[in-house]
Amino acid sequence: MDTDFLQIPLIDHHCHAIVGPNRQADTEALLRVTSEAPHGYPVEDLLERAIWPAVLTYVSRYSGHVVASYEELGPVLQDVDYATYCKALFHDARFEQLFIDTGFAPAGAPSLGEIGRLTGAKTRPILRLESVAEAVFKESSSFSQWWESVQFKVGQARANGYVGAKSIAAYRSGLALHGVSYADAERAFAVWKSSDSARLEDERLLCFLVWECAPILAKQSLPLQFHTGYGDPDTDLRLGNPLHLRDFVETFTPQGLAVVLLHTYPYHREAGYMASVYDGVYFDTSLIVPLGLTSARRVVSEALELAPYSRFLFASDAHTRPELFAIAADLFKDALEHHLQDPMLSRFSGAGTRERWAQLVCHDNARKLYLETSP
Ligand SMILES: [Zn+2]
Repeated sequence: MDTDFLQIPLIDHHCHAIVGPNRQADTEALLRVTSEAPHGYPVEDLLERAIWPAVLTYVSRYSGHVVASYEELGPVLQDVDYATYCKALFHDARFEQLFIDTGFAPAGAPSLGEIGRLTGAKTRPILRLESVAEAVFKESSSFSQWWESVQFKVGQARANGYVGAKSIAAYRSGLALHGVSYADAERAFAVWKSSDSARLEDERLLCFLVWECAPILAKQSLPLQFHTGYGDPDTDLRLGNPLHLRDFVETFTPQGLAVVLLHTYPYHREAGYMASVYDGVYFDTSLIVPLGLTSARRVVSEALELAPYSRFLFASDAHTRPELFAIAADLFKDALEHHLQDPMLSRFSGAGTRERWAQLVCHDNARKLYLETSP
């Protein structure tokens, strides 16, 4: 196969905002995005992870200064022209579009338009359902008012430029979603209202929200992403196994909803299995690629054991720092190329077929799934 993988354009279907130039020399932020550990995790251990030398290599390459240690990073990052630095990192990795989950952004993050200018990639927003529910909570005095507002906002998503929705139910109450009656949801809402927290944590209400929003999204041809598996320090990894979504998938994919399993590791094989047996299920291996530097090839190959290439997508899940996007793209393309050179694959499939599979995974699947609306 003579495909130059470096030249294949990427649509990153799940990522977050980067910091602006005011935080360009925030070295601790750069170190902490190489791990999902909570903030108190020791710096000295973060520095002893396989990905850290990769970060220093990328900073050296794009700043033009050799950076050999954590201590040398700050002055070098302070000195770079941040706009030029970002543009080069994103351009060389061929990022064409970024689908940004706006439910999490680093402090002081620039607007999506500004991120588009910094990166040279087209940015499009993904609507986080729990954020909508929490945003309208404060101004809603009753359950019916709250639910009306949620339905309205979710119903307007495509018209307002969103290309998909996302749920973080996995790290609130888990992925074993089920239908909840209006009366039960109303009771749960009353309990939430009487608490002094604006954070939606009630299992019944989370289930009600996601279950009832599913048909509203399907009607707009908007895929629904789920956080699954690894990521976010407050997740209970046992509850984030995508196999828990079986009832949800069996209920809504026949109604035309596309379900996208994000991250998936260490359940990437389970996710691949689901994509191989259910119509309408898609997945990625974001976050473990790039954070699990040495396992990228193995994880991508395991993810693709059973799944069609038409159901697997590139994503970085990168945020805060531009360097992580470039490393994710680098490792992912290396892993995909390695996978597509598997001797059994080359024994039975031609170079043209394998090239097409690479294009599907890197951008065509995302374009079809998020940007094409069925009539
Ligand atoms: Zn994410």
